[in-house]
Amino acid sequence: MPVYVYEAKDLEKGCPKCSKGFETVQSIKDEHLTKCPACGAEIYRVLQPSWLGFSKTDLHYRAKRAGFHSMKRIAKGEYEKMY
Ligand SMILES: [Zn+2]
Repeated sequence: MPVYVYEAKDLEKGCPKCSKGFETVQSIKDEHLTKCPACGAEIYRVLQPSWLGFSKTDLHYRAKRAGFHSMKRIAKGEYEKMY
């Protein structure tokens, strides 16, 4: 079963669960979540299932985990911090 990562669209409104992003295991046939199961805030899928391989969203998620809030692609393989 693939693992998906979801995060609140508006981090200000998210609860401790979705404002940090959370992982959930879903069947490929399941509908994607649109609301946080804990607080009901709107969420979006951040990370593709790992079995699809390395993706841009994966990069984005890794960057966020490393402390960047939002990143802009400036060149191939290079990212810069946005405020
Ligand atoms: Zn939440």
